[in-house]
Amino acid sequence: MGKKETITKQSPAPTHQGVNNVYPRQPPSPAEAPNYRRKGPFKNNGSAVTEDNCASTATRDLWDNLFDGGYRADVTIKTENGDTIYAHANVLGMASPVLRGMLKRAKSSGQKRSISIHGVHQDVVRVFTRFLYSSRFESEEMKEFVVPLFVLSHAYDVPRLKRVCEEQLESGLLNLDNVVDIFQLSLLCNSPRLTLISHRMILRNSKAVLATDGWKSMRYSHPGLEKELLESVIEEENNRKEKIRKSKERKLYLELFEAMEALVHICRDGCRTIGPHDKDFTQNQAPCKYRACKGLELLVRHFAGCKLRVPGGCIHCKRMWQLLELHSRLCADSKSCRVPLCRNFKERIKKQNKKDEIKWKLLVKKILKTNRIEGRISFTKSSNSLSS
Ligand SMILES: [Zn+2]
Ligand SMILES: [Zn+2]
Ligand SMILES: [Zn+2]
Repeated sequence: MGKKETITKQSPAPTHQGVNNVYPRQPPSPAEAPNYRRKGPFKNNGSAVTEDNCASTATRDLWDNLFDGGYRADVTIKTENGDTIYAHANVLGMASPVLRGMLKRAKSSGQKRSISIHGVHQDVVRVFTRFLYSSRFESEEMKEFVVPLFVLSHAYDVPRLKRVCEEQLESGLLNLDNVVDIFQLSLLCNSPRLTLISHRMILRNSKAVLATDGWKSMRYSHPGLEKELLESVIEEENNRKEKIRKSKERKLYLELFEAMEALVHICRDGCRTIGPHDKDFTQNQAPCKYRACKGLELLVRHFAGCKLRVPGGCIHCKRMWQLLELHSRLCADSKSCRVPLCRNFKERIKKQNKKDEIKWKLLVKKILKTNRIEGRISFTKSSNSLSS
């Protein structure tokens, strides 16, 4: 029998592959589902055993008891605070290749070999070791120790624990206070998903994160990384501003287009109080469907009565002049159009200076483009709508 086989027979891993093959199967309790196969992502978020894990509650209890009781323990784990945790070399060696290597090199005193896990609090070492036995942890412990547990999972090569820590951080334990530390750790511990999530959190909350102690200490410990992060924060901020600017611009072009539609409608169909004097309105007339109508009506009425009705004379009239010119530029059929001055503007446009011409053409282009994107049919394409 080879050495490897001996290890496998005597020291089952506390993972789903080995447990049931090594020890005689326990009869399942009535509450247990017969299917021990894992479905979906690992979801153990507390001491209660989840159904999607392969090991039964009884099996996990057994491993917990083995850890708690230390029955025939042959390893002592020394912690930084001088505490001693009793464990089994077989279990540790199967759960972590790093611990296996440490145990090989460990000195024995009497029957027991001794290893040290330093750099974290003794309670963290205890939670870590228990996880190696039964994959269990208390929610409160995870909440408190998720960062050092994540570090241990990487340092001792326990991917299952690493996955649990990543999942716990992602589902709530990552916060503005620890996000900078977690981001740096995720880079050190080669956890691309966590890097992505923490980076996204930093970008979305840059203002608050920049004021945290984590950021300040990163500035001293990793100035290069801080510079890189800062650049991405600035880029994100610029993208956000650009997005807002574009959205405002789009809104303006849509409103202008709506105003143009309403202007044609007012001059063609009339709209209750404004419109062709040859049209009669019935009391039960359906409400107008053009949102811009109301504002435009007021403007048209002002324009009709204003004494300063010259371009630049009064802001309302100036606006009206601009709208009329814009209409003329968008209008496909000036000959039969009922919008005032439509044809006059068409004539005037021919004499306009180049600078103004470029400005107007750009505006018309943008309005039409925005409305095409929005899936609206431009009245300019249909000359009938202007002349009916
Ligand atoms: Zn109307
Ligand atoms: Zn005026
Ligand atoms: Zn027109």
